[in-house]
Amino acid sequence: MIRTIHGKMTALMLGLFYLAGFLFIILVLFSNRMYFREASQEINRNIAKQIVSKQELLRGGQINQEALSAIYRDLLTVNPTITVYLLDLYGRILSSSVDPASLRQDHVSMEPVIQFSAGERAFPILGDDPADPANPKIFSACPIPIGGTPEGYLYITLGEGEHESITRMLTGSHIARLSVFAILSGIVLVSLMGLFLFRHLTRRLRRLTREVEAFKEGDFSESDTIPDENSAGKGDEIDQLHHRFHEMAQRIGAQVRALKDSDSLRRELITNISHDLRTPLTSLQGYLETLVVKEGLADGERQKFLDTALRHSNRLRRLVADLFELAKLDAGEVRYHPESFSLSELILDILQKHQLRASEKGVRLNSDFNAHLPFVTADIGLLERALENLIRNALQYTPEGGSVTVSIDQEGDSLVVQVKDTGYGIPEPDLPHIFDRYYRSEATEDQYAEGTGLGLAITKRIIELHGASVDVQSEVNGGSTFAFRLPISAGTGQD
Ligand code: ADP
Repeated sequence: MIRTIHGKMTALMLGLFYLAGFLFIILVLFSNRMYFREASQEINRNIAKQIVSKQELLRGGQINQEALSAIYRDLLTVNPTITVYLLDLYGRILSSSVDPASLRQDHVSMEPVIQFSAGERAFPILGDDPADPANPKIFSACPIPIGGTPEGYLYITLGEGEHESITRMLTGSHIARLSVFAILSGIVLVSLMGLFLFRHLTRRLRRLTREVEAFKEGDFSESDTIPDENSAGKGDEIDQLHHRFHEMAQRIGAQVRALKDSDSLRRELITNISHDLRTPLTSLQGYLETLVVKEGLADGERQKFLDTALRHSNRLRRLVADLFELAKLDAGEVRYHPESFSLSELILDILQKHQLRASEKGVRLNSDFNAHLPFVTADIGLLERALENLIRNALQYTPEGGSVTVSIDQEGDSLVVQVKDTGYGIPEPDLPHIFDRYYRSEATEDQYAEGTGLGLAITKRIIELHGASVDVQSEVNGGSTFAFRLPISAGTGQD
């Protein structure tokens, strides 16, 4: 059983070709034979007439046997396939050129003879062959006498020699053999061309089948023959199918990859969370247990223990909040609600909130911008969170006597925000990693235990949600500058 389309189409095509070829050969041979008969009868149509016009073969019911015998002899010498009969008006055979014993019929049907004499029908007209009634023959006939009241007919069957049957024609005729050979060669040639064409046409189908098979086996990689993007809607049905399949495979592949990514992210997150929560929780528990167990603690020491426990619990709270926020940002669950607002006002508010901490630390917190800048389009809640992280870090990593400055500059149709400090700076090798989750520069890690290593990761994602990126420039002991840009709201000019 043939399973492939290519195999089925090939078998069908070969079957049809050979059937058509066989029918064609039969038709050619048959029409050849008919043509031969027509031509033969046409050439010999007057043979009977000529004989009758020269001899008086029948008069008053009397047969001129002498004349007939001479005719039989002459014709037999010229063409032995010819048989001459003298018929009465009803077709009965009165005399013939062959031995009467070899005749299987004593009469001849008169209808074709009369049609022939009247010239009514197109050739070939077939008449009875009394020697072989099963195979009618072409003939020539003429009434006797010509012109008067007919007394009988001269009926001559014209032999077809070796062309009597198609098989004999094939073995006997060089032209027939040549025609059949030409037809067969043509069929073989067309079949070969058809095979090549089918192979070519089904090649893309086979390739598509291979891709579908690979896809079924879970291979979501790009196929080696990616359909041209511009060819969507062009090409034949196979191209369309290939294109649609490719689009579908790509989408499924991307979804599977996203699922795998989010799965490994989730695993990583769970591992990290459990690890990160365990450390402050263990410390917290340790201090609380000490407080419970050690009854005779001095007030000062007790307060120290309580402060430490509180610090760990604060860090725990911040860690949980940050983790929750980052997880939501990663999962795409944070909705981005852009609106038009005054960035300078927002920054002034945030600076205000941090002023107390800055002065406690002995760090100057400055703003450097014109309060009448154009509005920006951004998500105010998310942006506040990002700015808070940057300003808190700047304060965190700047020693006493230093300064933190937030500036806004208009550049084209954007406002560029910079948070600049004169702090410890970030070592060059750490710069590419500080936006990674949990990454904390070794230079600051021990000093500022309450950091979570998540603030910049959150900031980066928030700014990316706004279609921008955070740039950082830093120099160890020279300070750091974090910058990003936001689009000015359409229709808001300088106010
Ligand atoms: P953390 O909670 O530790 O501050 P962040 O993600 O906000 O986490 O920052 C990651 C690391 O980048 C910090 O641990 C610190 O080493 C470094 N960093 C961030 N901001 C500054 C800054 N303004 N000056 C110096 N180092 C910084």
